[in-house]
Amino acid sequence: MEITFKVYRKDPEKDGKPDRSTYTVDLPGDATVLEGLLKIRDEVDSTLAFRASCGRGYCGECMMRVNYSARFACIAKVSAFTQKGPEILLDPLRNVPVIKDLVFDWDAFMWNKIKTIKPWLESTDEASEGENLIPDAVAKDLRKVMSCFYCGMCDEGCTVLPVDFNFLGPAALTKAYRFVFDPRNKDTRERLKIVEEPKGIWDCVHCFEADEHCPRGIEPTKRILAIRDLAFKVGITNEKVARHHLSFANSVKESGWLDEGRLAVETEGLSNIKGLMKLMPTAAKAIVRGKAPIPYLHSKRPGAEQIRRIFEKGEEEKK
Ligand code: SF4
Repeated sequence: MEITFKVYRKDPEKDGKPDRSTYTVDLPGDATVLEGLLKIRDEVDSTLAFRASCGRGYCGECMMRVNYSARFACIAKVSAFTQKGPEILLDPLRNVPVIKDLVFDWDAFMWNKIKTIKPWLESTDEASEGENLIPDAVAKDLRKVMSCFYCGMCDEGCTVLPVDFNFLGPAALTKAYRFVFDPRNKDTRERLKIVEEPKGIWDCVHCFEADEHCPRGIEPTKRILAIRDLAFKVGITNEKVARHHLSFANSVKESGWLDEGRLAVETEGLSNIKGLMKLMPTAAKAIVRGKAPIPYLHSKRPGAEQIRRIFEKGEEEKK
């Protein structure tokens, strides 16, 4: 079957401007995208750059966007992408510095972020001597997290990274979980401090896209939320986060739903003029699109009284 690949090209040694090359190759019906790329490189254009390693959908080296959606090229069958036409678009990942063609900068994408969280165990004195037995349930949970093969699919699916590339991202934070929850780890507080810095755990918007994307079922979002819960429990948070949570809860308690305008204002802090000014462009866009109700004039949703009573019951029980 004849397949046409339209491949993103960027050569930093020339003017570096991105372009697209079109290649048509004959492939068997069960061929993968990677097989198509290998054929192009071997028979048509040896300058085409892409990465691949295990060829079994494990290592993540060949991750790229196939018709705008992230895939491992080695297990992506071309037939799955040619139902609407014989052309397949290949691009590097979104928002990641591209080195050449489909080869992107893994250091910037993930490795530098993983290094930030100190990805090694620092044992307690007791744990560094003799046997280091940990409860089975804990070992099972950690082993699940350790089955991460750093494919980066969760970071690719993350909805925060396209907005803020400096966010540590689900892959690095999942790695942090592995050490934060290891009972042999020497200083959990220190580790929590690292990930609670700006661009860390509090920046996750828990959209659960990372969980949807993880091919190993590791549930990175669940891991991030567990780190957050632990941070709260041991009293590690920051004022802005505390304001955010309080505003969120008050808004739902008072009107039955979330007033996002109020949330943004109260999270920044009413006295933080500089922070509030920064919100103006987003607020202007929201107003133009009719998505900005006036803060504090948010009408109540039906059943708001019932929601308020649930809050009050919860507050009573906490006393
Ligand atoms: S958590 Fe899952 S998606 Fe993220 S890098 Fe590890 S294996 Fe890949």
